[in-house]
Parts: sequence; structure tokens; C-alpha cells
Amino acid sequence: MHPECRQHVPPSGHPERPGRLDAIEALLRRTPLWEACEHPSPERAGEDALARVHTRAYVAQVRGLSAAGGGDLDHDTPVGPVSYAAARRAAGAALLAVDAVAGRPGGVAVALVRPPGHHAGESLGRGFCVFNNAALAARHALETHGLARVFILDWDVHHGNGTQEIFVRDPAVVFCSLHQEAWYPGTGAIDETGEGPAEGTKINIPLPAGVGDGGYRHLFEEVVVPLLRAVAPPLVLISAGYDAHHADPLGGMLMTAAGFGDLARLVREAAGSTPIAALLEGGYDLDGLSFSVAATLEGLTGIDPRIAEPKRDVQEAPFAVAAARARAVRRVIGEYWEV
Ligand SMILES: [Zn+2]
Repeated sequence: MHPECRQHVPPSGHPERPGRLDAIEALLRRTPLWEACEHPSPERAGEDALARVHTRAYVAQVRGLSAAGGGDLDHDTPVGPVSYAAARRAAGAALLAVDAVAGRPGGVAVALVRPPGHHAGESLGRGFCVFNNAALAARHALETHGLARVFILDWDVHHGNGTQEIFVRDPAVVFCSLHQEAWYPGTGAIDETGEGPAEGTKINIPLPAGVGDGGYRHLFEEVVVPLLRAVAPPLVLISAGYDAHHADPLGGMLMTAAGFGDLARLVREAAGSTPIAALLEGGYDLDGLSFSVAATLEGLTGIDPRIAEPKRDVQEAPFAVAAARARAVRRVIGEYWEV
């Protein structure tokens, strides 16, 4: 978490606001997690690093917009005077997270960044995202650290369309997304599995609104965990969005913070000694977001935050909904992987 990431300031009323990081920090400081974790300061990603994913013309466009005082990349992706620096700082934190864990058995890093990244494409920002932090982290792992493969797990409630597009023909990146179907940005159908040499490396799990902790857990046990074991990557990146939380204004899912903690623990167990780097994406209810981040850290590190989200009765969709979707996705990935 770097102070510059708070200086990207969308207009008042925009859900992707600096207060998101304030809320996370305030909560984590009340837990043993804050003391237990190191807090290294990332550099801003350089333009050459950005150009591993984005076109130079797009990078120049963002730089120019910021220098001119601000403007819009799309109708909901504003850029202000410090946004170019903030987005480079977010990207730099993603690269540093990879540096911190790559080749380190059991390593865990969490980059609490904004603006988020997973909707950003090679030459466009959209959906609150300026530079694609997860894609930049993956390229950094492949090209700088020489890893043969990276597994990106994206549990943000919105499909990570930017990440999928960037790697759609790249078999070195296995991308697995769980997201709300018929929701922004509209992509992420079950039959979008990658193209050409990458066919079978893009796994999409669209879900109807109303799925909660039990449904997500079932999909992890039936799909994500077996896939992770079959792929056996040397690095797992998590595009960790928290807008599937039941209180989130931008999603229709019913996850709780404890549910996110369970998902993180399942990933940690399935990954074995494989290092994991998680990058913040969405999550717009400040309490839901901060408790969920703390629960994720607990799931990844085993450190008890000694603080928990107040219990609330959540009536999630019938279990059969998630079970049917798990069977459908297993049929698709069974063509490519031993799951
Ligand atoms: Zn989202």
C-alpha cells in the first residue's frame, strides 16, 4: 500500500475512491497482520515495463491526459493530474509483489493497490482500470524471472476481460475467472477458453447472482483446486476483487469476509509450496472490503487477525445452482486438463 495510490482521485461519488485504501489500512492496523507483514515501498513501473503489456501509444495517452490536468479514458475511468503516477505506482507494487515471492517456496505477497487493473486492455483503460497490474505482474514473472507459466485466479465479481484479452493466445498464462454472468463487462462465457496455441488455458466460471460462500467454496473444491493441481504453476497471482461481497453496491453476489478467507485458504493449500501474490482489484463497500482483505490475509498466511466481520444472515442461492455450474465447467476443462 503506497500513499501515491491514494492520489488517483476520481470525481466525488465514484465508487473507486481513495477511501478504499484508508479503510483497509485502518482495519489491518487493528490486527496482528499489520505488524507481521513487511511493508516495502514500490517504485513506479517504468514505461518499458508498462510496454510489455500496453502499447506505447496508450501509455503516452495516459501520461498526456494526466499532464494536461486530467480527462476520461472511458465513461467511468477518469484520469486526474496524479493518476499516471498513481497507476505506475500500482503497477510497480504488482511487480514488487512478484519479485518478493518468485522462487520463494511458500512465499506470500499482497499488493493493496489502486487504480485496479483487470479490465485494462493493451491499448485502452476502462472499468476504473488504467494499467493491467495482473498482466504486468505475469509478464514480469515470465520474462524477468524466467518462469515457464503463471496461473492468474480472478475472483472479482466482474470478468477480467482485459487480462483475458492480453493473454488470449498465450498458453504460458492460465487464467481462471469466477464472475457474475450477464454483468459488466459482458464477457467471460464458459466457452471462452483461449485461442490457437492457448486453447484450454482460459477458464471462465460465470455465475448467476445470489451465489455465496457455500457455492463459491464448492466451485473452488470442484474446479479451481483440481485445475490448480493439474496446471502446477510456479507462481499463482490472484486478481483479488471483493465486489462479490453481499454488501457491495456493484455486484449481486452474497459472499462474506469469512467466505473469502476460506477461498484464500483453499488456494494456499492447493498451491502447496508455490508462491502466491495477490493484487487488489474491486470491492466498494468499505467494511466488506476491509474485513475481506483481512480474512484473505489470514487464509494465505495463517495469521489470525483476531477481528471478524459481524455475523449477518445471508440467504444464498440454492446449492444446486453452484453444483450444476461446477459440473458444466468441469466438462469443458476436462477436455484440456486432468481434473
Ligand atoms: Zn469488479
